[in-house]
Amino acid sequence: MLNVKNLTFSYNKTTILKALTFNVAQGENLAIIGESGSGKSTLLKVLYGEFDLNFGNIYWKDTEILGPKHNLVVGYDFMKYVAQEFDLMPFISVEENIGKFLSNFFPNEKKKRTAELLDVVELTPFAKTKVKTLSGGQKQRVALARALAKQPEIILLDEPFSHIDNFKKQSLRRNVFKYLKDKNITCIVATHDNNDVLGFADNMILLNENKIEIYNTPQALYNNPKTPLIASFFGEFNIINNNIVYANQLQVVDNSNLNATVIKSYFKGNYHLVEAILNEQKVLFESENRLEKDENVYLEIRKK
Ligand code: ADP
Ligand code: MG
Repeated sequence: MLNVKNLTFSYNKTTILKALTFNVAQGENLAIIGESGSGKSTLLKVLYGEFDLNFGNIYWKDTEILGPKHNLVVGYDFMKYVAQEFDLMPFISVEENIGKFLSNFFPNEKKKRTAELLDVVELTPFAKTKVKTLSGGQKQRVALARALAKQPEIILLDEPFSHIDNFKKQSLRRNVFKYLKDKNITCIVATHDNNDVLGFADNMILLNENKIEIYNTPQALYNNPKTPLIASFFGEFNIINNNIVYANQLQVVDNSNLNATVIKSYFKGNYHLVEAILNEQKVLFESENRLEKDENVYLEIRKK
């Protein structure tokens, strides 16, 4: 298990991470969320031992993760890190990249392992393709597979699906997170995409103003978003009578004391997102039917 205690870090004078304390259990999936610049990538790099801490400590089981001042080679065998900017070997094939750190003394093992990982990242047809000819998203998948090759105990993923197109993203995400759970690999994912979290993360941390603003399960945070920042991570929302109300909680009814006037409807597939004015305030709600400008509707707040 990972124990992080009072982790404090700055690149120069400004503190980026201030006294972070949290634990991650073996096999747990922890999501680190926060706005751009909140320090998600920095936290992963620090957990990996890329930088020296100003204060605090990090342990994986009994091993203290130390920065470059105390460690000639950055990184540990039990831990893998997939950066936002991945570095692969461009002139060798996808399978060679994935197997790069696997021993040649066990050629059958190596072959089997590489094939398994090609399947996880859905790149089997590209096994022999040179990496330099791949798209950004395909490269990201190679980087993921390579990090998993030696079966780490813990993996740190920085925006792991950010370069992958929507056609592939959903199934790939399920494959990768299922693989990690099946192998009981601890996983810390930095992301600003709620799709990387919902359905996958056991717990989540919201970084804000250099600190852990909230630590809880996705269910608890979704059902009771304490701040607009946390609500905005999950979707469109309104503040009505000082309460956070998701757009999908507001529904059109025959009659109520919430009378709204439609401004615009946006087609979203199985619903329309409707912008309207309620008590001189802009609100967003979801409607099965398209509503036209200036239409009058009654709204009701549904329980989550
Ligand atoms: P996130 O991943 O959440 O977008 P980052 O960890 O990349 O955030 O950045 C957090 C803060 O640290 C930002 O203000 C960024 O400008 C700063 N920062 C990131 N990398 C460096 C660096 N190598 N040197 C100095 N400042 C940095
Ligand atoms: Mg980042």
